[in-house]
Amino acid sequence: MRSLKRKTLLNLKCFPMESEPHIIYNGVICPKCTDEISSNHRHDYVTCSCGQSFVDGGVGGYIRRSPDAIPVVFYNNEPHEIIRNYARRGTRGKSLDQPLKWVKISEMTDEHLAAVLDYGGADWHLKIIADELAYRNKNNIKLSEDEM
Ligand SMILES: [Zn+2]
Repeated sequence: MRSLKRKTLLNLKCFPMESEPHIIYNGVICPKCTDEISSNHRHDYVTCSCGQSFVDGGVGGYIRRSPDAIPVVFYNNEPHEIIRNYARRGTRGKSLDQPLKWVKISEMTDEHLAAVLDYGGADWHLKIIADELAYRNKNNIKLSEDEM
């Protein structure tokens, strides 16, 4: 655990906040069926259950949505308590053989977060992962694989 903490601090230093806020959640609420839907990645075109609303573009920097849908959009300049419950990471499981699943940062295991930091990725995303490890450390939250 101590080594994890040190690694987190090191990583925080490496990932300064970019000047432009980055989208972490691209969703809409349909005014007709009240479904909340969200697009996870650039080619993730999602429609609501009644078919009136759609959202597309994921968190890659552009947003496309049906004009009457109610936007639900969060950026990485929100407090971490919000970010951890909206930002998601795509995963295919530890052995990379599972169907792609999108997991909220707040629901990733400690081991998974540490593995992502080792694996690397976009700075803005790694900063969220490092922030989550620091948040768990501060609030004494443990989400271990043994308990899943
Ligand atoms: Zn609908």
